[in-house]
Amino acid sequence: MKTNNMPNQQRSSILIVYTGGTIGMKNDEATGALVPFDFSGIYEEFPSIRRLHVDIDVHTMPKLIDSSNVKPSDWCAIAEVIRTNYERYDGFVILHGTDTMSYTASALSFMLENLTKPVVFTGSQIPIGVMRTDGRENLITAIEIAGAKHPDGRPMVPEVSLLFHSRLCRGNRTHKSSAEELDAFSSPNYPPLAEVGVKIAYNQAAIAKIERFDWELKTATMLSEGVAIIKLFPGIGEYTLRAILAVEGLRGVVLETYGAGNAPTADWFLDLMRETVERGVVVLNVTQCNNGSVEMQLYETGQKLQGVGVVSGHDMTTEAAITKLMYVLGKNLPLEESLELMKRPLRGEFTL
Ligand code: ASP
Repeated sequence: MKTNNMPNQQRSSILIVYTGGTIGMKNDEATGALVPFDFSGIYEEFPSIRRLHVDIDVHTMPKLIDSSNVKPSDWCAIAEVIRTNYERYDGFVILHGTDTMSYTASALSFMLENLTKPVVFTGSQIPIGVMRTDGRENLITAIEIAGAKHPDGRPMVPEVSLLFHSRLCRGNRTHKSSAEELDAFSSPNYPPLAEVGVKIAYNQAAIAKIERFDWELKTATMLSEGVAIIKLFPGIGEYTLRAILAVEGLRGVVLETYGAGNAPTADWFLDLMRETVERGVVVLNVTQCNNGSVEMQLYETGQKLQGVGVVSGHDMTTEAAITKLMYVLGKNLPLEESLELMKRPLRGEFTL
């Protein structure tokens, strides 16, 4: 009898890092209220996991949170758990609330420097203790992916990824696109790393290529404050925008523009952008569209933005753009070096 459907029979050890969110909720038998699920009892609750050919340990974060409360200090705490356990495990599954999962996955993709092992984020729309939960499948599939290896022992997906419903995507390419559907995440500008059906079909061409597996993991836990996201809309007022950009300590702005990176050509707007850039603030242009890329040379409206020193975010998600700004500016490099890092993909977060 075939007892597991792993692509090969090598045993893997996985650390589940439980941070909170809907996936961790079950009904209290006495009161019926939703209470946190104790993942340390994972084998009793999901006996089928024993057939996956993985050894699982669970690390529960000291304070379980609804992910709407997540802060950069929580990202640092997750990175620290991964760093301290890095040598002991083949892969990591991060259980996280869905609301900000794309922000955390994007942040961790930058913070975990020299990563050569799988870090798979997942969560659920329906609590794990509810009969019709999507959490059970997401959890089991994430564990299987985190433990999957090539026949020579190399990990199948050595990067930060996000597994939800039937797709594994690069973490820093994802966006929570539905508040209700079980298929809640999209990866608008990058193909899935794997499609989950009867089998898990890995898309080798899309998965990060690791040049050296002997690199030591480093965690970058200095994340810059003083960053903001500004979404343009017709009628945005000069005084409002001026007030936001005048805020003390501002170091970086993600500017959500129209279409292929276009913005008003009014003198006040361009002058304000020029002044902001000249003050040393990094202004990164991403599109408000659900997919596609910024191409500032396409229209006069984009060319003018480029002319005042706004940097193209190409096809980055807002989640990747803001967390990359925090990461790069957190290095406290000279402005030119920060701009150089912003202009090239560091973890496959945009397509050139
Ligand atoms: N509010 C929850 C959270 O993000 C939603 C979820 O987990 O799906 O923590």
